[in-house]
Amino acid sequence: LNKEIEELASHCIRCGFCLESCPTFVITGEENSSPRGRIYLMRGAEEGKVPWSAVREDLDSCLGCRACETACPSGVEYGALLELSRQKLEQIRPDKRRRTLLDQLTNPAITKLQFAFAGLLPSKKMPSFVARMWSDEPAQALLPIPQKAEHYSPLDEEQWPPIRGEVVLLEGCAMRVLFPNVHLATRRLLRRVGYRVRPIDLGCCGALHAHSGFLEEGESRAKEVARRAQGLPIISNSAGCGSWLKDAGVTATRDLSEFLLENSLISELQKTKWSGPPVTYHAACHLAHGQKITAAPLELLGAIPGLDLRPLEEADRCCGSAGTYNLTQPTMARTLLERKWGFVEATGAGWVVTGNPGCHAWIEQASRERGGKIRVIHTAEALETAFRTP
Ligand code: SF4
Ligand code: SF4
Repeated sequence: LNKEIEELASHCIRCGFCLESCPTFVITGEENSSPRGRIYLMRGAEEGKVPWSAVREDLDSCLGCRACETACPSGVEYGALLELSRQKLEQIRPDKRRRTLLDQLTNPAITKLQFAFAGLLPSKKMPSFVARMWSDEPAQALLPIPQKAEHYSPLDEEQWPPIRGEVVLLEGCAMRVLFPNVHLATRRLLRRVGYRVRPIDLGCCGALHAHSGFLEEGESRAKEVARRAQGLPIISNSAGCGSWLKDAGVTATRDLSEFLLENSLISELQKTKWSGPPVTYHAACHLAHGQKITAAPLELLGAIPGLDLRPLEEADRCCGSAGTYNLTQPTMARTLLERKWGFVEATGAGWVVTGNPGCHAWIEQASRERGGKIRVIHTAEALETAFRTP
């Protein structure tokens, strides 16, 4: 990234406009859990005024949601600052628990095994000896349940526009295991606008590594993704992965929603008819704040005739999932999830739509804990559902 902590931190004029946008500050009211406070601490540690070890806790409690970047009038690149500081912390005192967690989460073969094992546990709860590997606080995350692959009838090639080009699809690490239907829907939507997915496994993009302080590893994984993509547009349906690839300079990266909007899916959607329940939309942080994509998903959903799209209060506030945050900081993650769920229920919607696997699994947990009456689905699944209405 070639950026320096001091230089990045020097842009903060300490105005405090970011405070109310920060989920952890809103809960604790403490300056050290605010963006301004954390920037002050990072700068102080870099200048040698406080030891890095003294700021670790306050940086660990940061979600990396980058809502503060959106709010900041001075253009502070908080996400980059946080990644560099976490890298520093990692270099000074490596966090073995975090490393183990990352290795597990970014290996689809291991996650698949873990979820299969979890399915045998009656409580579906993370065994406490496993949870203690990541945090000293009581675990909150249930083991996510992988989707059962849906049956889609084949697309009638004669009905669709001729093939205009090819793209590659970033299938992600956990996403390919947990949410196979999201990729199925994604491929169909791309085909509806004239694009075929070239079957290339792009591997792990390194987002979780970079966001956890393993910047060099994150960058080398991002480079490898770009190399494997062979110059084709890289479609990401995971906000966190897409955001990281863009930050790492992989310019061919497009979030699915922006790509579909640019390629006129709206005119296809306008021919459909919604017969599902009212829907609300949770804006994933790395889409809204990381990639500044706020309108595209709403425009696509809003184009479906008959779809009752209900506004969600604090739609772009973090749900607490935040990569590995709900495993490493379970108490704050749970507080944020409950807040999010309260607003979801208040909309009266039957479905919550979102564009990131972490939010998807975490918000789905809140639903499961209450009997699963509200369904959580990815934007791609919601859009493809419109085409399936008889
Ligand atoms: S809004 Fe920006 S400049 Fe103002 S305190 Fe927050 S980070 Fe600093
Ligand atoms: S990234 Fe999110 S949690 Fe961290 S300081 Fe910024 S707004 Fe707060």
